[in-house]
Amino acid sequence: MLDELEERYNNARVLIIDDDPMNLELLDTCLSETFQTELVQDGREAVKRANDNIPDLILLDIMMEGISGWEICQQMKSSPPLAHIPILFITSHDNDDTQIRCWEAGCADFITKPFNFVTLEHRVKMHMRYKLTTELLTTLSTRDGLTQLSNRRALDNTYPMLKGVCQRNGHPLSLLMIDIDHFKQYNDHYGHLQGDKCLQQVAKILKSTIKRTSDRVFRYGGEEFTALLPNTDREGAQKITVVLLNTISGQHIEHQSAPLGHVTVSIGVTTFDWAKLPQHLDEAIEVADHALYDAKQAGRNCFILTEVKPCHH
Ligand code: GH3
Ligand code: MG
Ligand code: MG
Repeated sequence: MLDELEERYNNARVLIIDDDPMNLELLDTCLSETFQTELVQDGREAVKRANDNIPDLILLDIMMEGISGWEICQQMKSSPPLAHIPILFITSHDNDDTQIRCWEAGCADFITKPFNFVTLEHRVKMHMRYKLTTELLTTLSTRDGLTQLSNRRALDNTYPMLKGVCQRNGHPLSLLMIDIDHFKQYNDHYGHLQGDKCLQQVAKILKSTIKRTSDRVFRYGGEEFTALLPNTDREGAQKITVVLLNTISGQHIEHQSAPLGHVTVSIGVTTFDWAKLPQHLDEAIEVADHALYDAKQAGRNCFILTEVKPCHH
């Protein structure tokens, strides 16, 4: 994890916004040895420039031609892709009112001009470390370390969100439960380390097959995976399921103690009409789990599809 943090830190980007070219140059000199800097002199361009190439931290002047730093800060804080970026105000006006307006606009810190070079550098470094560490910890807490897929916690967070999107748009949501066949025997035969490699291979196939930007794949636990496919009806879900079964089986990952001699999966698929989407993830999983159980009963390396639709009388 520390390596990952160091790499992010060494490539971190600071956007500096100030309408005075002298100030821009001064701030740039102070920071460009440690960070990649981008300079913006026209405040009215600031939000667009930040959106074009999202920075890790922003230094912002307050009094500028045409627009104030507070306005820029507020605009950024209410724009989801920019809202999490720490903004540090740099200003020569340090009366109470100014300071309060800065905090109210959502800044991370406040530095007064004329500034001390060393202090400015250290402040920026501190905020950068804090931001990148928080970001990395958030990512790690939702990622499975073995397969690099999203984990169960991420699934718990994602379901309510995708459910909301599908309900608002009147779209169906399909859920796949994917379970490796005879995996206990795989471990018994090849050992746990090889078992781990097999999980990684299967995860890689899932990731490359389920690739619409709105689709999400998770390691549910053990040798079970879950896919959430918003705006995908039963035909769509069936198509992708068949591709998954064929691709995994087609890799011929050796599994001598399995009937076919290679690794296969069974898949339980459920398509929920938007009006029948369960409130809780558990209920949705339960339905797909039944289908998965039936697929196992039907001989494995196959899928069972169920559909949950509103009943019309
Ligand atoms: P079925 O065809 O009915 O799905 O049988 P199965 O053997 O795949 O299912 P079972 O639930 O009996 O066994 C799952 C096995 O998955 C047991 C466990 O040792 C293995 N497993 C779970 N997590 C991991 C892991 O992280 N690494 C490895 N190597 N094995 C794991
Ligand atoms: Mg299992
Ligand atoms: Mg299994």
